[in-house]
Amino acid sequence: MENNKNEFIKQLKAGIEALDISYSSEQLEQLWEYYLFFIKENKKYNLSTITEADAVIKKHFLDSLVILKQLNFDGRKRWLDIGTGAGFPGMVLKLFLPGDSFYLLDSSAKKVNFLNQLIYKLGIKGIDASHGRAEDLAQIDEWRASYDYVCSRAVASLNVLLEYAVPFLKVGALAYLYKGPEYKAEIKEAETALKTLGAQIKEVIELDVPGLEAERYLVIVEKVSKTPVKFPRRAGIPKKRPL
Ligand code: SAM
Repeated sequence: MENNKNEFIKQLKAGIEALDISYSSEQLEQLWEYYLFFIKENKKYNLSTITEADAVIKKHFLDSLVILKQLNFDGRKRWLDIGTGAGFPGMVLKLFLPGDSFYLLDSSAKKVNFLNQLIYKLGIKGIDASHGRAEDLAQIDEWRASYDYVCSRAVASLNVLLEYAVPFLKVGALAYLYKGPEYKAEIKEAETALKTLGAQIKEVIELDVPGLEAERYLVIVEKVSKTPVKFPRRAGIPKKRPL
């Protein structure tokens, strides 16, 4: 299917329809362009081991979009995707939430370079890719406590990820954390982190990605009070000594 646009669009369309998400032909075209650029540049930027068209559609595109089926978003919100890699889920979500502002963050300069080229290529407005570590940026005023939503997939275990994510949220705002079947154990291990950072688990939703056997969950975390200024700790410490 690699160079077969019709086949790619057909499969993508079937998946998006199975998710019951409304879409336009422009959005399908954008995902096709995204896919072409992703496989073209994959080696250069070391983006992902998942490159076969069928797998990219299901494991990257549909897995990113699946949360739109189960949640309602009303637009004009500020999102931050921590450890976005090649743009999953943030870049894909932006294509379907054009009225929201997206900030994509990754500690790999190569990946951010890829994303900036992709954003330029697709001509999307209201999205920005930045190079840096969550621990450093969350201590900067313009980033701290200034997002309505944080999303993140495959970046760290929950206790570590919370220290990256919660400081960026406004009080009352939510983090959407994509997790696998180990989420229950991760939540248990994250009790101290939740309490320390001023957050609580709001809900866990089982995600149903069309054509994917893998168990997928969305852990939704609500920030309930201001995070003490000493968090996040210095870059590398949250992972080395999780809360
Ligand atoms: N979210 C993408 C996905 O699901 O395909 C990428 C996942 S990849 C396994 C993890 C990404 O997180 C890498 O691109 C890495 O550079 C980034 N990352 C890890 N720790 C980070 C940190 N502290 N701050 C920012 N980015 C980080």
